[in-house]
Amino acid sequence: MTRLRLALAAAIFALIAAPAAAQETPRWSFAIHGGAGVIERASLTPEQDAAYRAALHRALEAGQTILADGGSALDAIQAAIQVMEDDPLFNAGRGAVFTAEGRNELDAAVMDGATLNAGSVAGLTTTRHPIGAARAVMEQSPHVMLIGPGADSFAASVGLEQVDPSFFFTERRWRGLETALRAQNLPIPPRPAGAPGPQAANDLPQPPLNERKFGTVGAVALDQQGRLAAGTSTGGMTAKRWGRVGDVPVIGAGTYASNADGCAVSATGSGEYFIRATVARDICVSTRGGATAQAAAETEIADVGSIGGDGGVIVMGRDGAPAFAMNTSGMYRGAVSSSAPAQVAIYGDEDLQP
Ligand code: ASP
Repeated sequence: MTRLRLALAAAIFALIAAPAAAQETPRWSFAIHGGAGVIERASLTPEQDAAYRAALHRALEAGQTILADGGSALDAIQAAIQVMEDDPLFNAGRGAVFTAEGRNELDAAVMDGATLNAGSVAGLTTTRHPIGAARAVMEQSPHVMLIGPGADSFAASVGLEQVDPSFFFTERRWRGLETALRAQNLPIPPRPAGAPGPQAANDLPQPPLNERKFGTVGAVALDQQGRLAAGTSTGGMTAKRWGRVGDVPVIGAGTYASNADGCAVSATGSGEYFIRATVARDICVSTRGGATAQAAAETEIADVGSIGGDGGVIVMGRDGAPAFAMNTSGMYRGAVSSSAPAQVAIYGDEDLQP
C-alpha cells in the first residue's frame, strides 16, 4: 500500500471507530436497583411484572433528567431514590417492612465519591424521605451517622418533610409481618395508630408477592463533571427487633463511592452478611487495583455467598459502565446513560431491555 492509501485507510477507520468509542465512555451514566431476592417469573403476574418495570423507568427518568442537564450525581441519586421511597412497591419509605413491634424504621445512606463525604441515618420514623435526611447529615451536620428520634429531629430542623408514621403503612407489608411473626411464634402487635382498617386495604397484590426478597432501593451515578456517587434507602428486614440496623447506613458495607478508587456501590441483601464482608468498600478496593466494576462486583458477591449471605450490588465505574451482580434469582434493576437508552430487568437470567 502506498502512504496515501495507508493514510486514507487510517482516516476511514478513525471515522468508523469514533462513534463506537464515544458510546463506550458516556458523558454521564446512571444505574438503580429496587432490591434482590427470590424473584422468579412464576411469582409475578404479568401486571406485577409490568408495574415493577414501570416503577424502575420512573426512577431512571428522575435521575436521567438531572444528569443529562449537567446536574450532579448526588442530585440524580436523591431524586431517583425519592421516587422509589414514595412507591409502595419497594421496601423503602412508604411501603417499608415492619419491625416486630409493628413500626417502620427507615435507614439510608449517601456518599459523594469526589470528596469522600458521607451521611447516613438509621431508625427514622417520621421523615418522609430518608435519603434526603442522609444527604442533610452529610452536608449540614458535622457528623456522618445519626440514629433514631435525634435523626428525625435533625431532619425536621433542616426543613425536611415530616409525616405521621402511618404514612409508611401498607397492608401488604403488614400481612408480611404477620406471616413472619407467626413463623417465629412471636406475638402480633396491634395495627399502628392511623393505619387504615384491614377491610380498607387496597394495596394487596393478587396473587400475593413472594416476600422472600429484599426491596431496598439504591442508585449509583457518574455525572458530566466526572463525579461518582452512591445512595441506598431501606426499611430493613421484616420483623427486625431490638433496634436492628442493617448494612445500608453502614458506610463501606451497603453504600460507598470513591472517585479515587473509581467506583460507586449500592447493595441489597441480607445486611448482616454485607456488613461482615464490608461489601461496598471491598469492591472499590478491587477497582482501584484495576478490576473492572463487573469483575469486582461478581467476586464480592461470591465472597458474601461463601459466608451464607445473599443479595446483589450495583456498581458504577469511572468509565460509566454500570455493573450488576447477584446470587439471588432476581434483582429489580435498571440503567441509562448519555449513550444508552433507559433499560430495566428483573430476573437474574435476563439482560437489560427497554
Ligand atoms: N440490606 C437490607 C438490610 O439488611 C435489606 C434489603 O436489602 O432489602 O437492611
